[in-house]
Amino acid sequence: VSIEEKLGVNKYFVDEGNAHIEIDPNYPDMKEKMKLVNACPGGLYKLNENGSLSFDYAGCLECGTCRILCLGTIIKKWEFPEGTMGVEFRHG
Ligand code: SF4
Repeated sequence: VSIEEKLGVNKYFVDEGNAHIEIDPNYPDMKEKMKLVNACPGGLYKLNENGSLSFDYAGCLECGTCRILCLGTIIKKWEFPEGTMGVEFRHG
């Protein structure tokens, strides 16, 4: 089973219009951006051709890796999703 297939069995309750993580997509330090591209287990950070960063909070696994790496630089806000929103892991 591939990682993508394993991630696909999770349920994601997306809080539309209320991003629990916000970033500065044009942060100037490329090393900082590549940390996120390489470390997010959901593959949610993508480097665009113009050097900016794309990010989609909808598939977030709430692992906190990006918060530890880049809170205060690229990551402008990191909170858990509200109430019953966010990821629901399927075990087994
Ligand atoms: Fe990716 Fe984890 Fe950050 Fe969510 S919390 S965006 S899964 S690194």
